[in-house]
Amino acid sequence: MTKRIAIIGAGPSGLAQLRAFQSAAAKGAEIPEIVCYEKQSDWGGLWNYTWRTGLDEYGEPVHGSMYRYLWSNGPKEGLEFADYSFEEHFGKQIASYPPRAVLFDYIEGRVKRANVRDWIKFSHSVKNVTFDDGHFHVTVKDLPNDSVSTETFDHVIVCSGHFSTPNVPHFEGFDKFPGRVLHAHDFRDAVEFKDQDVLIIGTSYSAEDIGSQCWKYGAKSITVSHRTAAMGFDWPDNWAEVPLLTHMDGKTAHFKDGTSREVDAIILCTGYQHHFPFMEEKLRLRTANRLATADLYKGVAWVDNPDLFYIGMQDQWFTFNMFDAQAWWARDVIMGRIGIPDRAAMKADVEDRIAREDAGEDDYDAIWYQGDYIKELIEETDYPTFDVEGACMAFKEWKANKKKGIMTFRNHGHKSVLTGTMAPKHHTPWKDALDDSLEVYLQN
Ligand SMILES: Cc1cc2nc3c(=O)[nH]c(=O)nc-3n(C[C@H](O)[C@H](O)[C@H](O)COP(=O)(O)OP(=O)(O)OC[C@H]3O[C@@H](n4cnc5c(N)ncnc54)[C@H](O)[C@@H]3O)c2cc1C
Repeated sequence: MTKRIAIIGAGPSGLAQLRAFQSAAAKGAEIPEIVCYEKQSDWGGLWNYTWRTGLDEYGEPVHGSMYRYLWSNGPKEGLEFADYSFEEHFGKQIASYPPRAVLFDYIEGRVKRANVRDWIKFSHSVKNVTFDDGHFHVTVKDLPNDSVSTETFDHVIVCSGHFSTPNVPHFEGFDKFPGRVLHAHDFRDAVEFKDQDVLIIGTSYSAEDIGSQCWKYGAKSITVSHRTAAMGFDWPDNWAEVPLLTHMDGKTAHFKDGTSREVDAIILCTGYQHHFPFMEEKLRLRTANRLATADLYKGVAWVDNPDLFYIGMQDQWFTFNMFDAQAWWARDVIMGRIGIPDRAAMKADVEDRIAREDAGEDDYDAIWYQGDYIKELIEETDYPTFDVEGACMAFKEWKANKKKGIMTFRNHGHKSVLTGTMAPKHHTPWKDALDDSLEVYLQN
């Protein structure tokens, strides 16, 4: 009997999984029956921008965490699909740090061509996944029709992302603060903070990028409060890094070093949780946001039941091409091309990955660690090999450019590891490029 596979989510990870199965079918293999459930009405995951925050029109938590004017925060040469280059999609090489709409177009181009849209049930939210009698039972809500049904599958592949459920700390005085307090998940438009003194808590990519957005679109000042270490870039004059906030007193923010300043708005860039309320407890991934996730053999297969897979759950230097490597690998396990060892060997694999990650000393070690992980997976499948080392070098150049100029690193170009073409310089420096539309970005 044909196996049935449920894929949860049609963001870059879920779409990688669909493309993996479609590419096997295109080579003549008999593939399982695939059903992909996506709670939004379109594909692309976080790259499918929504103005909504809080709950959506069906009362579901809004998935989107992306904001207007978001440009790629890493070089596109580090994420390029090995089976679909930017040049192939756009008919020419484009600059290295595309805005969201351009990356959405690229993600969509590959899956449109693969013709996998019919495998996706849009506006279907997975509510519950259980396992018994050798099968998964997946309960799904058809949102527009307000109806719930349960289907049975041989495998479940969770591709629901992990940058959507915010970590929201409390600080004394927030309840009386006369301005806006929001988490990065609800940030949509930096223009809102024009002429304001903005306090950002955290030192993640969100802190760096949301602060930069607010600066670009005219905030009066940016203050970034850190718990352990400052980000340490050469920030503009109206930007300060301070120790952790202790409390608010009206509009006045007090910090651990005894200093204080008045602010108009507070943005919590305090990270996200791996949150899978729809998975029954014995199937639920519980991991920190790290490169070696807990309990996933090869970073993908659930150790306690390797018929279940999680894609894209690692902290990410690499993104789209890593999701591809994982999706091709999961496909080949499901199709019997790759064997799964016994539980003890799987657990040893997880422990070894954790120990190797812990032995790393800096970001460069982390980049190469994740690059090696991608190489390891693609060596086991027919995903096109690509110059992973070259992609690591693009990340290295990117980090050096950020050190030289945090507001100018996006003006640089990198070389595609697929086509060998150097990305052209973008026509407008990032800080002056206020229109982030696809049309304007692609102008020569
Ligand atoms: C603000 C921000 C900026 C980023 N910038 C970059 C960048 O510049 N470059 C980069 O490479 N990466 C960036 N990322 C990282 C991002 O995680 C990846 O690019 C990518 O979107 C991850 O893909 P995914 O498919 O794993 O998850 P997601 O993109 O989160 O997609 C998950 C999908 O699952 C669906 N889903 C969730 N729960 C359910 C359910 N119960 N039932 C049905 N469907 C469900 C969601 O609706 C969504 O469509 C950024 C992330 C954030 C938050």
